[in-house]
Amino acid sequence: MQKIIILFTTLIFFVGCASSPLNRRQVVIYSEAEMAAQGERSYRQIQQEVPISTNTSEINYVQCVTDYVIEALDPRVESRNQWEVTLFSENQANAFALPGGKIGVYAGLLDVAINQHQLAAVIAHEVGHVIANHSNERASQNAIRDVGVAVARILDVDDTTLEAIDMGARYGFFLPFNRTQESEADSIGIILMAEAGFDPEQSVELWLRMNSNSGPRPPEFISTHPAPETRIADLNRRMQEAQSIRQLANNTGRNPDCVPGIASPR
Ligand SMILES: [Zn+2]
Repeated sequence: MQKIIILFTTLIFFVGCASSPLNRRQVVIYSEAEMAAQGERSYRQIQQEVPISTNTSEINYVQCVTDYVIEALDPRVESRNQWEVTLFSENQANAFALPGGKIGVYAGLLDVAINQHQLAAVIAHEVGHVIANHSNERASQNAIRDVGVAVARILDVDDTTLEAIDMGARYGFFLPFNRTQESEADSIGIILMAEAGFDPEQSVELWLRMNSNSGPRPPEFISTHPAPETRIADLNRRMQEAQSIRQLANNTGRNPDCVPGIASPR
């Protein structure tokens, strides 16, 4: 086992290190350009395969909220990505954002996130994943795990040990990272939505609604680990700071006014 620990430490030592916006040290091995290109390819593929909404009022609404969130980003961060949002007509309460700034919102989300502030909470959370390079981090971890297993094979480790490395990497070593990423995206998200002038209090409201909305496919935000109570407690810890940021944003003219429009059949 000692050999294996040395192996992983060595691997992590040799690959790149970066820092998240919250100054957490990260291991990333891909360039931002590589990740953005991959994000773009996947996005175009999803646009081919998943039906895109034709509901103009909902499309405009989602675009409006997204614009406010993106405009609140630090200009240096904003310009590093080619931001784009697509409303898909699928009925699940979910959203995603790919490296390079490609955001997807599923129409079903609009039934759960019932006002512009709640929708902004989701979009700001997703943007948080992008600006914190979480995909790069995950892809890098997978690559490191694969290399780790390959090297262990060369070192002639027996099968049981090999399996242990793989399982350990999958469940012990890498999964906790997802939890870290989720709470990081929450922290970035609540501040970002406040900077855009949205009401951060509504992020808590949204998670409560998400929890009571037990659809067939749990949304990403719920299926990825942090217990709802923990998540809400974490958000509440930042609430005072977020509220004063929002106040400042409102006072300086950031007053989002996105309206869902008249609901029409999807
Ligand atoms: Zn997330």
